[in-house]
Parts: sequence; C-alpha cells; structure tokens
Amino acid sequence: MLTRSRRRLAYLFTLAMGGILVTFAFVVYYFLVKERLRVFDQQLKDEAQSYVFEFQYVSEQGQYRVEYGGIPLETFADMVPKGLKYACWYDNLKRPLRINDDICPPQKLVKQGFQTIDFNQFSPNYQQDWLRQITAPIKNGNKQIGYIVVAKSLQPIQENLARSRFYLSLGVPTTLGLIGIVGWFLGGLAMQPTKRSYEQLQRFTADASHELRAPVAAILSNAQVGLLAPEDNSELPRQRLENIVDISKSMSALIGNLLFLARHEGRLNLKDLQTIEIVGLLKRLADEYQLIAEEKKLTIMTEFLSEKATLLADPDLLQQALKNLLDNACKYTPQHGMVKLKLFTQLRRISIQIIDSGVGIPTEDLPHIFERFYRVDTARTRSSGGFGLGLAIAQQIVQAHNGEITVQSKVGEGTIFQVCLPLKKV
Ligand code: ADP
Repeated sequence: MLTRSRRRLAYLFTLAMGGILVTFAFVVYYFLVKERLRVFDQQLKDEAQSYVFEFQYVSEQGQYRVEYGGIPLETFADMVPKGLKYACWYDNLKRPLRINDDICPPQKLVKQGFQTIDFNQFSPNYQQDWLRQITAPIKNGNKQIGYIVVAKSLQPIQENLARSRFYLSLGVPTTLGLIGIVGWFLGGLAMQPTKRSYEQLQRFTADASHELRAPVAAILSNAQVGLLAPEDNSELPRQRLENIVDISKSMSALIGNLLFLARHEGRLNLKDLQTIEIVGLLKRLADEYQLIAEEKKLTIMTEFLSEKATLLADPDLLQQALKNLLDNACKYTPQHGMVKLKLFTQLRRISIQIIDSGVGIPTEDLPHIFERFYRVDTARTRSSGGFGLGLAIAQQIVQAHNGEITVQSKVGEGTIFQVCLPLKKV
C-alpha cells in the first residue's frame, strides 16, 4: 500500500512538473521564433530600403518609369542584390513591371507588409523554400508610384530553430526522467512519517489485541470452570466470579489507558490550559503518596522551591503524568527505600524530578521504556499489574505541554525521571 502511494506521489509530481516544463519549453520556443523573426524582418526591411534607393523614378507624361543609371528597369538583366531571393517591381495596380519575370510572385501575393510564403507555390521550377517577403509602397514625394516586393530565404532561421528544437527534444525528456527520479526519491521522503505511523499503529494494534486476548481467555476459562461445578458447590463458582471481577477490572484499566492515549494525541488546545501553581500541586501529590509509601514502608522526601512558580497546563493531565511516575517509583522500590520529589527552575523552565532508590532500569532498556507496551521484565511488571503504558502516557502528556521527559537509571541503585516544562511567561 505504501509503495503504491509512493509511486502515485512520484507519478503526480512528474506529471505536474512535466506539465510545467513542457509548457515552459513551448513558451520559450514561441518567443525564440518571434524574436528571430523580428530581427530577420528588420534586416529584410533595411535591405529592401537600401535597394530601392539605388533606383531613380522618372516621370514621363504622368507615368513613372524606374531606371538604374539611365537604363530602364525592363531592360535590366539581374539586379537582385546578394542574399535576397528576388526584388520585384509593381505598379500602383500591383501589375509587374518586368512582365517575363517568372521569379516574381503573382499579383494575389502582393500584400502590403510581411508574409511567409513557399517559393515553390508560385515558381514550380524551384524546389520548396520558405521565404519571408516584404511588400512596401514606393513613394515619390507624397505620391505613391508603385510597390516593391523583396524576399529572402528563411533557411538560416529554420536551421537555427531546428537546432533549438533538437536540444529541446533531447532536454525535455531527459529532464522529465530526472524529475521522475527526484519525484520517486521525494515520495519516499514524504512517506517516511506515514510509514512510521503506520508501523506504529500496526504494532500498537497487535500489542493491544495481544494484551486483551489474555484476560478474555482467563475470563472464559474461569466462567467455564464455574459452570462445571456441581450444583451443591457454591464456593467454586463464587471464587471464579471473583477472579472474573479482578480480571475485568484490570481489563477496564487497560482499555481506559488505551482510550486515554488515543484521545490525547497531539498538542493541547490553548483554551484547555490553566495557570497552575506547581509547588502547591506537588505538595498535595506528596501528601497523597505519603499514605501509599507508609504501607510499603518507603520514605517520601521533598525538595521544593521556596517561592511560587506558575505554568500553563491542564492540571488533571499533568497530575496523571506525575502520578504515573510516582506510582512506578513506589512500585519498583523495595521496602525501606526512598522516593524523592524535587522541583527547581532552569532557564525559564521548571524541572520536576522523581527520584527513587529502587531496582533501576538496565541501560539497554532505557531507549525503549517510553514505547507503548514496553516492559523491562515482563514477569516483574506483570506481577505488579503493569501493561507498559504508564510511561507512554506520561510522555504523551508532557510532550503535549511542550515539555520533555528524560530518564537516568542504574540497576540496583535507582532511577531519576525528569520532567521539564516551560514556565508561564509574565
Ligand atoms: P508499567 O505500567 O508496566 O509499569 P510503564 O510504562 O510505567 O509500564 O513502565 C515501563 C517499564 O519501565 C516497566 O516495565 C518497568 O520495568 C520500567 N520502570 C518504569 N519506572 C521505573 C522505575 N522507577 N524503576 C524501575 N523500573 C521502572
């Protein structure tokens, strides 16, 4: 599924970028043609002008005659300057002045301005050659006396443009190929977070199903054994029902934790945050745990700031995170041990430390303990009723408050969990 999405991403990227590239190539080519033609037309116009100036126009009984150094145009042999295809003269009614000129365009092609025409179209003796032609009126003073039509082969431009087309036709597919490769690579990068979440979700679902299967199986077997008891024996079913109640309670706690994790994913809404005084909150927590600690013969110690410190937080969630850490500290510290709650400030952040003198966590387990369902020693934690979700919940809450949770531990010596949270700006 992920590979299909990646391929799709790469395909769409290539399509979008390719579309832009091809459009861009067309626009560039269009402007190239336009610019080349503009320069070509300007040259043609200049050449036609200088050619026309070499002739004289002699008026004779109201008629004009074109001459070159006293020789009439009609008797002139080859007067086309180098580089031009033809230079033809027409009178005011667009009739050719040199009647047997098979090289000159017919009357219908004499249209004022620039034109692109095929030479072969009106001069079948010549092979196909695209020409650029200019038709300009000849004036003597204010009086128009005829037209001059001058044409030049477009071959140099065509060759030039053919070269440009060749480079474009090579460059565009090559660039498209490169875009495809980059798209595939970027698609992979873009899919990384999705892939991670997908794998996490898969692992989470598998772990959650696994954790729920065991208690369901236990409930079933307890119920079956209870049903098999003889009718006069009410003690056995009762025992089994009590077991079912215990298992159901633990299952309910697990489901509660799972729901909690699902509901509190992501950053907290600023509207839900309150200004809380953290020293007071920690004192109340310490008092609460004093009773639990006494039962386990643990000593609870505190070290707080003398002044008040405030931060923006959801008090219930924050308490839940700290309780998870305190529960663990009490759970994994043997009798006559010590649990300490410490608070200090550090560069506009407050640090809360939960220190215990308990069993500690092996170094190889430290990078994983915040993962959902991760338990250091399954036998040890299962006997204490843990599902491996307490630290994941604590971390999720702290991160939702824009904070950070870290751990240091040494087996046999104890563990320090540190929660850093931003202080409220004053
Ligand atoms: P659980 O609910 O099973 O305790 P947690 O997510 O709270 O799960 O903890 C994960 C693991 O980290 C536990 O299996 C436990 O072994 C270890 N752990 C957590 N806190 C402590 C601690 N204070 N001392 C020693 N081990 C701890």
